[in-house]
Amino acid sequence: MVLKFKKIAVKIGSNVLTQKDGTLDIPRIEKLVTQIAQLHKAGLEIILISSGAVAAGKSQLKVSKKIDPISARQLFSAVGQVTLMNHYHRLFSEHGIFCGQVLTTKENFGSRRHYLNQKNCMSEMLAHNVIPIVNENDTISVTELMFTDNDELSGLIATMMGMEALIILSNIDGIYNGNPEDKNSQVIETVEANKNLSQYIQTGKSSFGRGGMLTKTTIARKVADEGIHVFIANGKKDNILLDLVNKEKHVICTQFIANRKEVSSVKKWIAHSDGFAKGEVHVNAGARKALTGNKATSVLFVGITEILGEFEKDDIVKIIDENGKQLGVGKTQYDNKKATQLIGKKGQRPLVHYDYLYLD
Ligand code: GLU
Repeated sequence: MVLKFKKIAVKIGSNVLTQKDGTLDIPRIEKLVTQIAQLHKAGLEIILISSGAVAAGKSQLKVSKKIDPISARQLFSAVGQVTLMNHYHRLFSEHGIFCGQVLTTKENFGSRRHYLNQKNCMSEMLAHNVIPIVNENDTISVTELMFTDNDELSGLIATMMGMEALIILSNIDGIYNGNPEDKNSQVIETVEANKNLSQYIQTGKSSFGRGGMLTKTTIARKVADEGIHVFIANGKKDNILLDLVNKEKHVICTQFIANRKEVSSVKKWIAHSDGFAKGEVHVNAGARKALTGNKATSVLFVGITEILGEFEKDDIVKIIDENGKQLGVGKTQYDNKKATQLIGKKGQRPLVHYDYLYLD
C-alpha cells in the first residue's frame, strides 16, 4: 500500500464507539485498532483522540436521580475512561503495540509551559513507538472550562504535533449538500482552502447540526487553513482508515484541502488559543490604530491602559481595545505583575512582539 501521509491524528467520536443502547461497541473498536496497528507497522505515526469515556461510564453505572448533570458527567468519565483504556490496552497488546493515555484540559493549552509539556510527552511516546490516546480530562473540565467537544481537541492536537492529516471519524459519510437523510443529498467531497462554507448550510441548522457537523466544519476549516489535511469520514465503514490513507483508493468522505502556506508552530498555537487566554491587555485608541494599520506592530507599554488576570511569561493574553472589543491574542513576554509595573512606560521590550501576535 502506498501511504498518503507519514503522520496522522485520528479522532473517534462517541457515536462510532458506542452501540444504540449506549454500551461500547467492542467489535467496532477492535476493527479500528486492527487498522491502526496495521498502519503503525507500515511506519505511520498515529495519535488517537478518543471519546467514549462518558458513554462507557454511563452504560455501566446506575446512579440515583439526585445527581446533577455535571457531577454525573464527572463520575461517568472517571469510570468510563478506565474501561475505555482497558479495551485499547488489551486490543493494542494483541498486536504487540503499547498505547499510552494523555488526558488534558482547555487550560493546558493557554499556558505555554503546559502546552510544551504535553507536546514533549507525546513526542516521546511517538519516538518510542507508543500510540498516544488523548481525551479531555472530563473529571475536572466542567462547564466553561470544557472544550466545545473532542473535535476541537483533535484540531489542537493535530496542530500542536504538526500532523499532516486529521481524520475525524463520525457516523456519517461526511458533510452533505443537503439533509443527509434526503436521497438527493450528496457528500461534498472536497472543500478548497479558505472556502466559506455557509453555502453548504442549506437545509437549516437541524440537519447540519446532526452529529455536530457545524463544529466539525469550523474546526476542519481552521485546521486546514494551517496546512493540515482534514477528512470527515464514516468510522463505521469497514477499512475506513486503511482506505483513507491509501494513495490508490477513493473513499466517499469530505476532505478539507490544506492551505499550502507555511505557518509557524507558535503562530498556530496562538491562533488556536483564543478561548484559552490567561489575561487581558487593554490598549488605547492610538495603540488600536497602530495595531490594525498596515504595518506589523507590537503591543507596547505606552499604549496599554490596563492589565487583567494572572499570567506567566509566554502565556496567551487577549488584546482588547478602548471600546472593549477584542483585537486579537498574543504570547506575552512578561508575567502580569511585571507587566502591570511597566504600563505607560517607554523604551521597554514590547509586551507582545508582532511575531507572536494574532489579530482577529
Ligand atoms: N470527552 C468525552 C468523552 O470521552 C467526549 C466529548 C465529545 O464527544 O466530543 O466521553
